[in-house]
Amino acid sequence: MTTPNTPPRTIIIGAGIVGMCCAWHLRRRGVDVEVVDRLDPGMGCSFGNIGGIAVTEVAPMSVPGLLTKVPGWLMDPLGPLTVRWSYLPKLAPWLIRFLAAGREKEAERIAAAAATLFQHAACDFGSILSDLKAPELLGKDSCVAVYDTKAQFDADTWAYDLRARNGFPCTPVSGAELVDLEPEIAPDFAAGRVYEGWYNVTDPYHVVTTIAEDFVRNGGHIRKAEVVDVIREGGLTTGVRLADGTEMACDNLIIAGGAWSHNLARMLGDNVSLETERGYHTTITDPGVSPSREVVYGPQGFGISPMDSGIRVGGSVELGGLDAPPDYKRAKVLVEKAKRVYPGLRTAGGSEWMGHRPATPDSLPILGRASNFGNAFYAFGHGHVGLTLGPTTGRVIADLVLDGQTDVDLAPFSANRF
Ligand SMILES: Cc1cc2nc3c(=O)[nH]c(=O)nc-3n(C[C@H](O)[C@H](O)[C@H](O)COP(=O)(O)OP(=O)(O)OC[C@H]3O[C@@H](n4cnc5c(N)ncnc54)[C@H](O)[C@@H]3O)c2cc1C
Repeated sequence: MTTPNTPPRTIIIGAGIVGMCCAWHLRRRGVDVEVVDRLDPGMGCSFGNIGGIAVTEVAPMSVPGLLTKVPGWLMDPLGPLTVRWSYLPKLAPWLIRFLAAGREKEAERIAAAAATLFQHAACDFGSILSDLKAPELLGKDSCVAVYDTKAQFDADTWAYDLRARNGFPCTPVSGAELVDLEPEIAPDFAAGRVYEGWYNVTDPYHVVTTIAEDFVRNGGHIRKAEVVDVIREGGLTTGVRLADGTEMACDNLIIAGGAWSHNLARMLGDNVSLETERGYHTTITDPGVSPSREVVYGPQGFGISPMDSGIRVGGSVELGGLDAPPDYKRAKVLVEKAKRVYPGLRTAGGSEWMGHRPATPDSLPILGRASNFGNAFYAFGHGHVGLTLGPTTGRVIADLVLDGQTDVDLAPFSANRF
């Protein structure tokens, strides 16, 4: 533990985008920080997302009208949403809360809370990127969603109006305007929406490793190890125990362990509702098409993103827990569907990946102090938008740890809301 002459020591569990942003902000403010992860930085879910700084995405995943789409999706084993039925008994409590979050009033509340974070996202992301002096990480501007039919476009209108009501408008465009924006897409889409203010990074993994390198250059430490226990004394956490039996002492502890964080929070007496929404991607190095922005295929819920390594086709939600092996048929089917968007897409030789989105039922992350331990903090549960909100989370958590307060009201993000 710290003596009066040594700076307080913070351990962060998790070296994904969220943990590394917390580490980076704290280190910049002079804190002695060690990040612990069983993987190298950025090798969890943060490795393979599709790189969207998705600043408009305040609507929860569960919205009014979703229930009418779910049966059709579930009938299709390779549709946008799948449940592994053997996992259903374990999933049920989360699923019930997820469906409850889609009631109109609740979705309104969630979006308003999310907006208090998203309003800072572009600025916080931009200020880390400019501080890193790595302009090559910045990719293309904006994003467009495409729809086969006007009926599909209309089915999403409530969720887009919700974004607009919270200050994040998306602009409707006609099929002809879509072709002007993206000349290589199929000419017969009925309508689309331009997501204002988005941008993409050229590779989300390189974003994390660049932050990690900067953190280490500035005196931060990263250890590759698995945390198996949190050491507690009275109302404080005093350290963590690693799988090899080593004990590491700390003055503050931050849990940023992505989809595994509920196991760690349980050690602190918080039973948070967290599931993994398993997602897939294929990265194609020689795609034969050059999207000038991210393109989301609205009815199928996946995106096609330009990256420095080619293009990445990614999305899908598979509810099947942390342990089941990947089912790469889900990645392959996204590539097949991407040919509907880009008929000229060459699909040979893609690399496939599966990652665990850390998902709460109400789509809001869990941010703030642990319920029973004043020096333990949570920073996890960012679901589909962890890349977007990582830098804001890092800043907010650093403020909370060091100043005891932040510019965001953290009540809607509390661990004991479930
Ligand atoms: C297909 C797909 C596309 C996506 N697209 C986007 C997008 O365009 N924009 C966007 O904003 N978001 C996107 N996301 C979501 C985003 O990738 C995640 O929200 C984000 O990566 C979560 O970051 P994290 O740091 O919380 O978790 P992770 O990156 O998973 O990091 C958590 C780390 O904690 C470690 N850990 C956990 N427990 C322990 C332990 N006990 N001991 C040691 N280490 C431990 C893990 O090893 C892991 O490395 C997408 C996700 C997917 C799957």
